[in-house]
Amino acid sequence: MTEPMLTIRGVTAYYGAIAALKGVDIDVAKGEIVTLIGANGAGKSTLMMTIFGSPQARDGSIVYDGRDITRMPTHEIARLRIAQSPEGRRIFPRMTVLENLQMGAAVTQFAHFDEDLRRMFDLFPRLKERVSQRGGTLSGGEQQMLAIARALMSRPQFLLLDEPSLGLAPLIAKQIFAAIGELNRTEGLTVFLVEQNAYHALKLAHRGYVMVNGSITLSGAGRELLEREEVRAAYLEGG
Ligand code: ATP
Repeated sequence: MTEPMLTIRGVTAYYGAIAALKGVDIDVAKGEIVTLIGANGAGKSTLMMTIFGSPQARDGSIVYDGRDITRMPTHEIARLRIAQSPEGRRIFPRMTVLENLQMGAAVTQFAHFDEDLRRMFDLFPRLKERVSQRGGTLSGGEQQMLAIARALMSRPQFLLLDEPSLGLAPLIAKQIFAAIGELNRTEGLTVFLVEQNAYHALKLAHRGYVMVNGSITLSGAGRELLEREEVRAAYLEGG
């Protein structure tokens, strides 16, 4: 059995009286890529936010790298080397590409800055060409690359990605998924990925989960899920 990185058990979360998560169980082992898919409003973003403590889980538990973080305040969870590239790619629009990457590296006090910068430019050559350009003037795809690269500059053990392909041209989305796969293979980065782009996300993943209405309805190997009729019908338009 591989070592667990994230263990979510029986987690519920509410917005007022409305249950957004209804007893969610998810496991992510060290070195794994795990994908969660689900339609709009299924509760995927809520689960991501609940991992970071806002909203807090009402029931159940979330254990990260051996520590119970269920009731930990968000600012303490942020110190645990979990990097997040949130939906909506919140880069710093007035800062240049380089300055954005420096912000990511500040967490590690720039211990490996030059080396990590080279790695990011190898991974995303587009960012190298745009190094002095302000973040806010990058295209959507470039901003997404920058958000992921900034997260990686903090040398996380664990990367949470909320819809990295949202609004991107298929080719750019493919490049982003390829980069995530490469980081996983070459550096053993553990990744938990939430996506509506089910095909690429499940193809990339070792394992996947399907969320419907706040509950997990299916789980299995990524490629196995891709073959399932109910997944194809609901999440892969046109099969
Ligand atoms: P999408 O892919 O559309 O982002 P999602 O799977 O990430 O969807 P969530 O954003 O987690 O879904 O939303 C789950 C449910 O909780 C939805 O019904 C949504 O309307 C509701 N919800 C989300 N945020 C709030 C909030 N702040 N207050 C009240 N209800 C909320």
